[in-house]
Amino acid sequence: MVRDPLVLIDDGTIVGVGSGVPAPEHADVTDLGGATLLPGLVDTHVHLAFDASPDPVGHLASQDDDATLIAMTKAAQAALRGGVTTVRDLGDRDYLSLGLRGQPGLPTILAAGPPITTPGGHCHYLGGVAEPTVKGVQAAVREHAERGVDVIKIMASGGNLTPGTHQHLAQFPPEVFKAAVDEAHRHGLKVTAHAHAVGAIADAVAAGADGMEHVSFWTADSVDAPAELIRLIADRGTVVGATVGMVPVPGLKPPPEIIARLPLMIANLRRLYEAGALIVAGSDAGIAPIKPHDVLRYSPAMLSGDLGLSPADTLRMVTSAAAEVIGLGHRKGRIAPGFDADILAVDGDPVADLAALHRIRAVYAGGTAVPV
Ligand SMILES: [Zn+2]
Repeated sequence: MVRDPLVLIDDGTIVGVGSGVPAPEHADVTDLGGATLLPGLVDTHVHLAFDASPDPVGHLASQDDDATLIAMTKAAQAALRGGVTTVRDLGDRDYLSLGLRGQPGLPTILAAGPPITTPGGHCHYLGGVAEPTVKGVQAAVREHAERGVDVIKIMASGGNLTPGTHQHLAQFPPEVFKAAVDEAHRHGLKVTAHAHAVGAIADAVAAGADGMEHVSFWTADSVDAPAELIRLIADRGTVVGATVGMVPVPGLKPPPEIIARLPLMIANLRRLYEAGALIVAGSDAGIAPIKPHDVLRYSPAMLSGDLGLSPADTLRMVTSAAAEVIGLGHRKGRIAPGFDADILAVDGDPVADLAALHRIRAVYAGGTAVPV
């Protein structure tokens, strides 16, 4: 923590950070009083195309691309107002999120396009279906690379949002999954895998995926995290996107199959942390009313309360560590010279009390004040 800070911004970039020093002559000065300045938050896992309603899949299906783009813009603006200055969209329809990159008034956006999945597989309706063969997934990855995605998202297991898929089963044969990862790496793209099933997690780690989302170790009737797999995830540095954080909405809870498994899932996340795994929050914003697009500032308190982590550790998971994970560690996630002037100003000290994250005084994205 820097006492009495002065952050110098020039043309959207931080050029100096001082303590107890006067502003240079001719500088435009904004005095935020006793506010605490944090780096703008970085959400490694969002879905701008999902509207955080009770039926995000149905709503998306009923909207054409023009209406969807308007809704996605509003979702991105909501994230920004909530202090989230960078998002990685891990699943849209028709590559729509790519067109929002670089738009003024929006967060910095990285985009995966439609997630690669099997015919009828998890989120097949988003358009990323590949034949589950080596040639099929290679072609799908190539198409994504040609469209200019920033990252490859691949559905290694079934998921809750897609009836008929199975969270406890892998979707692709291991050698096919590996071919997808290899093809992505050939194009210089990182891969993160939606992975609930124990077998899908094992396949993703073995294939050299850069990251995984959820990592719930889902089985047919519970969860089961083998010690050797936890060890392997930590040793290989496979990123764990924990998809934690939810807004308390009266009367709304996660589905019963998640509630029943939650204590074990939290215990397993704690085991991953103790093994030294690299964990980020990655909220999965947009998929449900408890996960609106500005939900990320609820994640640190959950990581701190459930896992017993220090507030400072959890804040890194939504700032500097998250920026590293998505490949922007050189210009996001820190308030330091040379970094983008993405700043979240809050009343109070979030290192002492994470609830301060909700008392937003100001948000800056690339040096520009966001109307909050
Ligand atoms: Zn997701």
